[in-house]
Amino acid sequence: MTIRSFFPTRIYTAALTPARAAALNARLLRECLQLSHDDTAGQKWSRRNYPGGFTSYASASHMHRVSPTFDALRRVIDRHVKRFAAELQFDLGEAPLSMTDCWVNVMPPGVAHGLHLHPLSAISGTYYVRVPRGAPGLKFEDPRLDRYMGAPPRKADADERNRAWIVMPAKPGALLLFESWMRHEVAANTGRDVRVSISFNYGWG
Ligand code: FE
Repeated sequence: MTIRSFFPTRIYTAALTPARAAALNARLLRECLQLSHDDTAGQKWSRRNYPGGFTSYASASHMHRVSPTFDALRRVIDRHVKRFAAELQFDLGEAPLSMTDCWVNVMPPGVAHGLHLHPLSAISGTYYVRVPRGAPGLKFEDPRLDRYMGAPPRKADADERNRAWIVMPAKPGALLLFESWMRHEVAANTGRDVRVSISFNYGWG
């Protein structure tokens, strides 16, 4: 008897070296918090779309083009996206994958970010700048969930590969990459401090 696995869903994880992460995150944290104070358009948008928190998704979404610090992070992420694309065996032709959007997310305690995906992109991901103890990771949903219909639920202690949801832990200096069509969410921040992350999209062509 043989059971083979097809159509895998891949999530790429990597971590900057502790020294590199500490140096880069100190600068990123300063810039992220500064932006959350200065970006009035972002504050206004967040009040309606990211209650209790701040995101520059709709106001300052090209941080890699305006900040040398974010651009340094972009160069690191570029290398990982290249590896991920090779692993996924994307046939990119002459058109590279490049960062199109890069924005800041600041989640004070109690703030959540509902289920969503990243339209019009190929690869998306998040880099973690500050993650207080007890703050949530990134929860992904099985992309086939809407077709399960009569499928039985999975055992609570089912293997990771058979679960309908998975939570990837968030740690400062950690990078997560996934295909942009994967639905994901962040549960309410149960930590006692602000959780700061940087999200981004890569487009093709
Ligand atoms: Fe997202």
